[in-house]
Amino acid sequence: MIVVMDPCGTSAQLQHVVSMLDEMHAGYQVIDTGARTVVEIVDSNSGIDRSRLEQAPMVERIGSSGDPVLAAARGAGDCTREIPLGKTASIGGRKLAIIAGPCSVESEDRILETAHAVKELGAVALRGGAFKPRTSPYAFQGHGEPGLEWLARAREKTGLAIVTEVMRCEHVELVAGYADVLQVGSRNMHNSQLLSAVGRQTKPVLLKRGWSATLQEFLLAAEYIMASGNPNVILCERGIRTFEQYTRNTLALAVVPEVKYRSTLPIIVDPSHGTGKADLVQPMSYAAIACGADGLIIEVHRRPEKAWTDAFQTIGHEQFRSLMTGLRGFARAADREL
Ligand code: PEP
Ligand code: MN
Repeated sequence: MIVVMDPCGTSAQLQHVVSMLDEMHAGYQVIDTGARTVVEIVDSNSGIDRSRLEQAPMVERIGSSGDPVLAAARGAGDCTREIPLGKTASIGGRKLAIIAGPCSVESEDRILETAHAVKELGAVALRGGAFKPRTSPYAFQGHGEPGLEWLARAREKTGLAIVTEVMRCEHVELVAGYADVLQVGSRNMHNSQLLSAVGRQTKPVLLKRGWSATLQEFLLAAEYIMASGNPNVILCERGIRTFEQYTRNTLALAVVPEVKYRSTLPIIVDPSHGTGKADLVQPMSYAAIACGADGLIIEVHRRPEKAWTDAFQTIGHEQFRSLMTGLRGFARAADREL
């Protein structure tokens, strides 16, 4: 059981709650998340008078520590939170947000060429990894800071917002100095230190679902970021690992409407990692928009077969054009704009 204090509460009001718990002989821990204070009752075998606690001044509510939508629970009539994507775009409103670009930033010329192409076709943000989480330690690990500089130059030239991954706590400040949105990848979704670190800075965070994470774990990972003070979390369904072999992952699209029922956070879909097959990216993009996703993140490269990373799931500029053309009808049907 947790006692959630109103963020405007004073330390005296917290002390009042703590004294009540002492009187009730309860074991507890006071947790200051950065954004709010929560008292977790760790030993509730003793007689806890729940209604007395509920009525104490500045107690927001009594909940459970496993409740994943404390900070962004959807109440009746609540809208999805609209989160800025750079200076001119946003995600979570009526307009769909399309984020496109290569898996990894390979060179300044290449990232610029793809940035211009995807911008012309309607993308609002450019993706590209400068720090790459790779399964093999012998595979290309990303260019690091020079890659971030090339992304920033692509933003200068095109106006696209930049979405790029941060893998280590020590790099949060560096990456936040270049990016408009910090991506926390699937492999790091369980890294609570990194989640708290991106929660302590102000740039929005794109949180990808761990490939073996339940929806509950995914939402609790988002909660870590919000509990540290950053409410701007964009969820991303990117497929989970199942027994199925014909795709790289199984794209679990049902989480999109389920997240919409539970939370006010926007959610986008990554059909590139979600399928691992370039030919499946277009149809699954349409399916994602049909079931209510707020946007897409798609791997696009000028010559997909030559991409240094994730070539098999990357589409070319012309395929992206065709995807965007077909997407208009699905956007209209879903009552969204493109
Ligand atoms: C990526 O976006 O390139 C990436 C590595 O994604 P994920 O963390 O979903 O595997
Ligand atoms: Mn990739």
